[in-house]
Amino acid sequence: MIKSLLIANRGEIAVRIIRSCRDLGIHSVVTYSTADKESLAVKMADEAVCIGPAASSQSYLNWRNIIAAACLKRCDAIHPGVGFLSENADFAKETEEAGLIFIGPRPETIALLGNKIIARNTALSCNLPITPGSTEAVLSLKEALATAKTIGYPIILKAACGGGGRGMRIVTKESQLEQALQIAKKEALAFFGDGTVHMEKYLQNPRHLEIQLLSDGQGTVVHLGERDCTVQKNHQKLFEESPTPVLDEKVRQQMCQDSVNLFIKLGYRGAGTVEYLYDNEHYYFMEVNARLQVEHPVSELVSGIDLIKAQIAIAEGKPLGYTQKDVLLRGHSLECRLNGVTAGVIKKLVFPSGPSVRVDTYLREGSTLSSYYDPLIAKIIVYTQNRDESLAVMKRALQEVCVEGIETNLDQQKLILESTMFRSGRFGTDLYERVCPEEEKKSNG
Ligand code: ADP
Repeated sequence: MIKSLLIANRGEIAVRIIRSCRDLGIHSVVTYSTADKESLAVKMADEAVCIGPAASSQSYLNWRNIIAAACLKRCDAIHPGVGFLSENADFAKETEEAGLIFIGPRPETIALLGNKIIARNTALSCNLPITPGSTEAVLSLKEALATAKTIGYPIILKAACGGGGRGMRIVTKESQLEQALQIAKKEALAFFGDGTVHMEKYLQNPRHLEIQLLSDGQGTVVHLGERDCTVQKNHQKLFEESPTPVLDEKVRQQMCQDSVNLFIKLGYRGAGTVEYLYDNEHYYFMEVNARLQVEHPVSELVSGIDLIKAQIAIAEGKPLGYTQKDVLLRGHSLECRLNGVTAGVIKKLVFPSGPSVRVDTYLREGSTLSSYYDPLIAKIIVYTQNRDESLAVMKRALQEVCVEGIETNLDQQKLILESTMFRSGRFGTDLYERVCPEEEKKSNG
């Protein structure tokens, strides 16, 4: 049994984890950097430990300090949240070696899935369709040219160990490949400490769909249906919804079953997500995120399952206690990410409330949105009977939002929400540039 849990994260996810701890009667200890001294998570947690200065490399990524803090505070377990150390296999391993429970998949599973090439091959061995492209690292220009010729341009070069929408390079014609390969390898090494890259066919304007799974590591794997995360800006998700407006039931079932099969093959333990691209009624495996995701609330709402409590129970070694037939997916949920465009002190802050609305945030009036970290201000999530109702409730919710003192993406999010394209449900990853062409131009310099 976990009695005391250290949260190795910050922001809204730290607050979210504290809330589940409270429900479970678990003592929460949050880590914080000097920049987060006044944060809501620090105020809410039962205890807080400063682990370093503002720069995440010296605080939220400083895993030796974090493990030492957990031992010092006599915690039984560490929850890594999302981002930061959540997919760091060494951190998971060291946590376990220090005699603590790591709330997440086994370190070996994280290591395996952290490499997109190995993940693609594992998916292939389970007969999952993968995006056309290489199943090995692209080493030489000669190899790259040959592979690109077989799959056809445009192609995308990806850092095998990449993540967070970074380390990807699109190549539209052969003459660009040499330079792009050099840059991709260099960037992969600089960002992720590993210069390995692979190549995939670049699908034009696909949809991003992903399946949420829970696996107790004792033989029971369930899926909580899909999330549609097609609305993106520079590969960063902006709106997420469940269910998607595009899948027919047969394809949905197949995608879910493929994902379950993959998790069974992996002997996966914990919560995880299988990401796919969907194009012309076909889906292609992209990768597995061996952790909780930012957009997890939409799955929580349609399934009625608290994913953090589930993660904790699995980490304690408990069996799931239910099977797929017990998972009832109902209604529709939509999440809008409210991001800061500039950092600074938030002078005025009003969030929506009322029927069908949930707000996951860590900021209050007078708080500072720090320039050191992810600019997420809040996730505004609605849960209703169907997509049309969610659109209407989200419109009402966004109308209630007021942020003064910093610039936000609220106006763009409203534009997207009210666009005919988004409302029709028929769009691909280029929705943002179509609906906000001016913003798109600005952000691309
Ligand atoms: P990360 O691990 O950095 O999040 P992903 O592999 O999950 O990267 O891809 C993020 C996004 O990049 C996708 O949602 C999609 O918009 C785009 N993308 C990735 N691979 C392809 C591809 N082969 N074709 C078209 N778009 C792609």
